[in-house]
Amino acid sequence: MNTATPATGVLPPTKNYIGGEWLDAADGKEMDVFNPATGQAFASVPESSAEDVSRAVEAAGRALPEWLRTTPRERAELLFKIADRIEERGEDIARVDTAENGKPIFAARAEPADVADMLRFFAGAARTMTGLNATEYLRGSTSLIRREPIGIAGQIAPWNYPLPMAMWKVGPALAAGNAVVFKPSEHTPLTALLLAELCHDILPPGVLNIVLGHGDPVGEALVTHPDIGIVSVTGSANTGRRIAHNAADTVKRLHLELGGKTPVLVFDDVDVQRVVSDLKAVSFYNAGQDCTAASRVLVSEKIYDRFMEELVPAVESIVVDDPMSARTEMGPVITEGQRERILGLVDRAVSAGAEVVTGGSSVAGQSGYFVEPTIVAAPDQRSEIIQNEIFGPALTVQRFSDENQAIEWANDVDYGLHATVFTEDLRRAMRLSKALDFGAVCFNDHAGSGVEMPHGGFKQSGYGKDCSVYAVEEYTRIKHVMYHFGDGPSSTDLHTHPS
Ligand code: NAD
Repeated sequence: MNTATPATGVLPPTKNYIGGEWLDAADGKEMDVFNPATGQAFASVPESSAEDVSRAVEAAGRALPEWLRTTPRERAELLFKIADRIEERGEDIARVDTAENGKPIFAARAEPADVADMLRFFAGAARTMTGLNATEYLRGSTSLIRREPIGIAGQIAPWNYPLPMAMWKVGPALAAGNAVVFKPSEHTPLTALLLAELCHDILPPGVLNIVLGHGDPVGEALVTHPDIGIVSVTGSANTGRRIAHNAADTVKRLHLELGGKTPVLVFDDVDVQRVVSDLKAVSFYNAGQDCTAASRVLVSEKIYDRFMEELVPAVESIVVDDPMSARTEMGPVITEGQRERILGLVDRAVSAGAEVVTGGSSVAGQSGYFVEPTIVAAPDQRSEIIQNEIFGPALTVQRFSDENQAIEWANDVDYGLHATVFTEDLRRAMRLSKALDFGAVCFNDHAGSGVEMPHGGFKQSGYGKDCSVYAVEEYTRIKHVMYHFGDGPSSTDLHTHPS
């Protein structure tokens, strides 16, 4: 393997971006950025502290009054320019993304155009915000709703889709008129810096700030800062729980996009070949490091054997190699720690009675963090590998006897982010759309969502929505303005005692 890192000219300045300036960490500390395909460090960035978060919040606070004066249209015009830039620099973004995240270059190349489209959507959606208005609901009164930006948004992202996750956060917050302090994952800081570089001469200084570093202390400082009005985080359920505790003291608004454990229900009326070809593409996309990864397959016992006969060779045909190579379908996982965690889950499933049908090991002879595409058959419903996120290139397959058992197993996890069902039976689809306890239920297409539709979980997958007009609403607050125009008694008169 000969994995290239991006040429120096492609990398953005490797510093915090605060108040429109590129700054080192206040205490000068730095941390390395690793290429997961080689295990080698190829850049270093600030390892910030709470002091850097304070500086960024102050910069956002200075920028806010002027930014609050802009109209949605004026903001949209700026965001459209950023969207154009993202497309122009698409190849640079893709190379940086592949270098720091390890995703195959074909997948990284698909993201910039999508991300530009997201930004254009959010910019337009912010111009449609409406509210409930009423006249004469109290005698002589008219009420209107002011939908206002919250102020300063603190936003925290994971490493699996660095640029799309940044845009899901930053796009709606800016479009709605907030200033932002954004913290990318410590594993993938460079793509966010590229975004800042593209915005530099478009956005007023301080409207978008990027602070790099670890969850503790940088994320924690964002969550506890009294001047931040909303914290939005995409991350694991453990991180979400900790953030919810930490946000309590400042009674902060939270938006939590946490983990998932997507069930994929395959009924006996489907075209098995087509379903297997979809699963090959989506279960191992991004090496399975996806909150909605199609990793928990439940198959009708009537087609189980035929399904496995198709699935195993399809998974074994996945090309795992240098992610910079255009032929590669799957790259490494993000860190050594993740690789060990994934393989540990598989090993313990086997000890508990499941069977590894294919894969189950590191890819031999690689210095990077590669895991073989893996299928684990017949794990117990209560086993760790069914109840916890795998977040890697391994899928489990269980055999169900009827629709009720499929629903029971699908819902029997703490998560509730996304479910997929393959069936041609419309009545069954209607029953399942109600019975499945997930924030999204997609039929006959796993991905099934674009920026226009909401993405967000139930149960321990969190609350709040990314994407859609609801995401823009997340970053607004509702103020009731009532005007009594003096025609007849006011409600105060009506509540005054006659004596
Ligand atoms: P993570 O929870 O380890 O980290 C996410 C972010 O939170 C990082 O920026 C991290 O530095 C920060 N963080 C960690 N501890 C913190 C704390 N105490 N206070 C504030 N910030 C803190 O998650 P990860 O490993 O980066 O990403 C994988 C997880 O993200 C998976 O569980 C996956 O399902 C989830 N995810 C969810 C969605 C969704 O839309 N629901 C999308 C992508 C990923």
